[in-house]
Amino acid sequence: MTYDVLIVGASPSGLKASIEVSREGLNVGLVEKRSFDGGGEGRPSPDTSFYGFFDHLGLDVDEEYVAHKLEGMKLISPAGNEIKVNTRGFSFFREDFDRYYLNKAEEHDVDLLLGKNVVSVSRNEVRTEDGSRYEGDLVIFACGSRSDILEELNISTMKYPSDLAEAVQAEVSGLSFDSNYFHYFLGKKYAPGWKATISPKGEDFGSVGVFVRNVDPDKYFDKFFEEVIGEEVKVKEVSTGEDQIITIPNKLVDDGIMVVGGAAGQAGIPFSMKAAEICSKVGSRAVKESKTSRSDLIEYERRWKKGYNKYYKFARFFLRKMEDIEDDGLDDIISSLGGINFAGEIRKHNNLYLNALGVMLELITKKPTNVRLIKYLI
Ligand SMILES: Cc1cc2nc3c(=O)[nH]c(=O)nc-3n(C[C@H](O)[C@H](O)[C@H](O)COP(=O)(O)OP(=O)(O)OC[C@H]3O[C@@H](n4cnc5c(N)ncnc54)[C@H](O)[C@@H]3O)c2cc1C
Repeated sequence: MTYDVLIVGASPSGLKASIEVSREGLNVGLVEKRSFDGGGEGRPSPDTSFYGFFDHLGLDVDEEYVAHKLEGMKLISPAGNEIKVNTRGFSFFREDFDRYYLNKAEEHDVDLLLGKNVVSVSRNEVRTEDGSRYEGDLVIFACGSRSDILEELNISTMKYPSDLAEAVQAEVSGLSFDSNYFHYFLGKKYAPGWKATISPKGEDFGSVGVFVRNVDPDKYFDKFFEEVIGEEVKVKEVSTGEDQIITIPNKLVDDGIMVVGGAAGQAGIPFSMKAAEICSKVGSRAVKESKTSRSDLIEYERRWKKGYNKYYKFARFFLRKMEDIEDDGLDDIISSLGGINFAGEIRKHNNLYLNALGVMLELITKKPTNVRLIKYLI
């Protein structure tokens, strides 16, 4: 079967790309190994985001898949000091999100090739485990960072691939945490290298996750569950995966090939969907003009890097700094940050670095002795 554009992976980025390319009037095949006949099939489960990201990126959130609204997030230090960041967010169940975008893709006449595991790739062609062969003038890989087929592509899509975070996340019921806030636990005690999280999804439902680097994620997940979550909480389903937060997107195209989403280090739902939008625009034009060599597709990589790599560089700087800080230092920082209106400061400028500076100035103006916190940044 031959398509104008073939997409591998019904991830948030793959689904978004399929809809956008189809809107351009091209015929699209979307190959996905899962069959979507219930259950998460062990797939990582992104399930929370914040309206501010979507607004900033010019993307819509459809309330149809939103399960629960959040007032913001709580940042919690190892000793339990916490601050609230009041920035509106939402959580959802993965099945609803997938179903919403699969329906949209179907409405746009995307050919959904589900339950098909891609086992080999070459320029303009993929083969699946059941022996089928699919061709596309352009192939977009949206298969996440864990897929074996990425190696075959031989494109160095991430600058620091060895810095992938490993995650264990469980869907749970019986949670008794403040359901208005996403809970973000920092520090080496529960999550060396990044974070442990609780995402409420309404009533007593939610998800609990641990995202770590260079340590055993299962061990830390068990510890977090035992010491923070509590035995009365029931686990419905556990999934494992990788998060690309500090790997930094690198090379995103080759002849006839574009890579998007987690596979390209573009971590997070809103950013991977924005990447899909840019990739689809550039890719569709290339196909219409029958020019799909690397040099024709490179505009996607350029536009992405110019507009968005700065956020990942900032995240990398922030997380690497956090790794250098001992847990009592984080306790100190979080307790000193109380009373700062983060959300207000962040809305003041459209510039990441000015926002960070704004928070620091506010911190010092409120309490001049906070100037000592600068030592943690050096
Ligand atoms: C546990 C966990 C929780 C997370 N939570 C959040 C969150 O709450 N909010 C957020 O913004 N981000 C979250 N992230 C990050 C987010 O999941 C990823 O950054 C995002 O999903 C980007 O990945 P993706 O969309 O490209 O691919 P993925 O979501 O990884 O999807 C890849 C798709 O490709 C398919 N596929 C792979 N190989 C093949 C193959 N050979 N043949 C056919 N199909 C294939 C897979 O089945 C899958 O459907 C989380 C990550 C993890 C690991």
